[in-house]
Amino acid sequence: MARAFGKSVHDQSMGMFARTLEAKCHRYGRGFVKVDRYFPSTRLCSRCGSLSGPKGTQGLSKRTWTCACGAVHDRDQNAEHNLRAEGRRIVAEGRPDT
Ligand SMILES: [Zn+2]
Repeated sequence: MARAFGKSVHDQSMGMFARTLEAKCHRYGRGFVKVDRYFPSTRLCSRCGSLSGPKGTQGLSKRTWTCACGAVHDRDQNAEHNLRAEGRRIVAEGRPDT
Protein backbone atom coordinates (compact mmCIF):
# COMPACT_ATOMS: atom_id res chain seq x y z
CA MET A 1 0.00 0.00 0.00
CA ALA A 2 2.70 2.48 1.02
CA ARG A 3 4.73 1.46 -2.02
CA ALA A 4 1.77 2.10 -4.36
CA PHE A 5 1.19 5.47 -2.71
CA GLY A 6 4.86 6.38 -3.16
CA LYS A 7 4.69 5.44 -6.86
CA SER A 8 1.57 7.55 -7.25
CA VAL A 9 3.28 10.57 -5.66
CA HIS A 10 6.34 9.96 -7.85
CA ASP A 11 4.19 9.78 -11.02
CA GLN A 12 2.41 13.03 -10.08
CA SER A 13 5.72 14.75 -9.32
CA MET A 14 7.16 13.69 -12.68
CA GLY A 15 3.98 14.85 -14.41
CA MET A 16 4.22 18.25 -12.74
CA PHE A 17 7.92 18.48 -13.57
CA ALA A 18 7.19 17.71 -17.25
CA ARG A 19 4.38 20.31 -17.40
CA THR A 20 6.57 22.96 -15.74
CA LEU A 21 9.48 22.19 -18.06
CA GLU A 22 7.18 22.33 -21.10
CA ALA A 23 5.77 25.71 -19.99
CA LYS A 24 9.25 27.14 -19.43
CA CYS A 25 10.45 25.85 -22.80
CA HIS A 26 7.44 27.45 -24.46
CA ARG A 27 7.99 30.74 -22.60
CA TYR A 28 11.65 30.96 -23.63
CA GLY A 29 11.12 29.73 -27.20
CA ARG A 30 12.81 26.36 -26.70
CA GLY A 31 11.72 23.04 -28.16
CA PHE A 32 10.08 20.46 -25.92
CA VAL A 33 9.71 16.82 -26.92
CA LYS A 34 8.05 14.05 -24.94
CA VAL A 35 9.26 10.52 -25.61
CA ASP A 36 6.79 7.68 -25.16
CA ARG A 37 6.94 6.35 -21.60
CA TYR A 38 7.39 2.81 -22.89
CA PHE A 39 10.36 3.67 -25.12
CA PRO A 40 13.05 1.10 -24.07
CA SER A 41 15.78 3.67 -23.39
CA THR A 42 17.76 1.51 -20.96
CA ARG A 43 17.42 -1.81 -22.82
CA LEU A 44 18.35 -0.46 -26.25
CA CYS A 45 22.03 -0.64 -27.23
CA SER A 46 22.97 2.84 -28.46
CA ARG A 47 25.61 1.36 -30.78
CA CYS A 48 23.83 -1.50 -32.60
CA GLY A 49 20.14 -0.97 -31.66
CA SER A 50 19.51 -4.41 -30.19
CA LEU A 51 17.28 -4.84 -27.13
CA SER A 52 19.82 -6.65 -25.02
CA GLY A 53 20.06 -4.46 -21.90
CA PRO A 54 18.83 -5.27 -18.39
CA LYS A 55 15.09 -5.82 -18.23
CA GLY A 56 12.47 -4.56 -15.78
CA THR A 57 12.89 -3.73 -12.13
CA GLN A 58 15.15 -6.75 -11.60
CA GLY A 59 17.67 -5.11 -13.91
CA LEU A 60 17.76 -1.87 -11.89
CA SER A 61 20.75 -3.02 -9.87
CA LYS A 62 22.79 -3.58 -13.04
CA ARG A 63 24.45 -0.22 -13.59
CA THR A 64 26.66 -1.39 -16.47
CA TRP A 65 26.06 -4.08 -19.08
CA THR A 66 27.77 -5.44 -22.16
CA CYS A 67 25.89 -5.87 -25.41
CA ALA A 68 26.48 -8.79 -27.78
CA CYS A 69 28.11 -6.29 -30.17
CA GLY A 70 30.83 -5.70 -27.57
CA ALA A 71 29.74 -2.24 -26.43
CA VAL A 72 29.99 -1.68 -22.67
CA HIS A 73 27.26 0.66 -21.44
CA ASP A 74 26.69 2.70 -18.32
CA ARG A 75 22.93 2.29 -17.82
CA ASP A 76 22.14 6.01 -17.38
CA GLN A 77 24.50 7.30 -20.07
CA ASN A 78 23.13 4.77 -22.57
CA ALA A 79 19.54 5.78 -21.71
CA GLU A 80 20.41 9.47 -22.08
CA HIS A 81 21.96 8.83 -25.49
CA ASN A 82 18.92 6.83 -26.65
CA LEU A 83 16.44 9.42 -25.37
CA ARG A 84 18.30 12.27 -27.06
CA ALA A 85 18.37 10.34 -30.36
CA GLU A 86 14.66 9.48 -30.05
CA GLY A 87 13.81 13.13 -29.32
CA ARG A 88 15.75 14.26 -32.38
CA ARG A 89 14.01 11.59 -34.48
CA ILE A 90 10.61 12.86 -33.30
CA VAL A 91 11.55 16.47 -34.11
CA ALA A 92 12.83 15.42 -37.55
CA GLU A 93 9.46 13.78 -38.22
CA GLY A 94 7.80 17.10 -37.35
CA ARG A 95 5.66 15.88 -34.46
CA PRO A 96 7.32 17.24 -31.27
CA ASP A 97 4.06 17.75 -29.34
CA THR A 98 2.88 14.12 -29.29
ZN1 LIG B 1 25.02 -3.50 -29.22
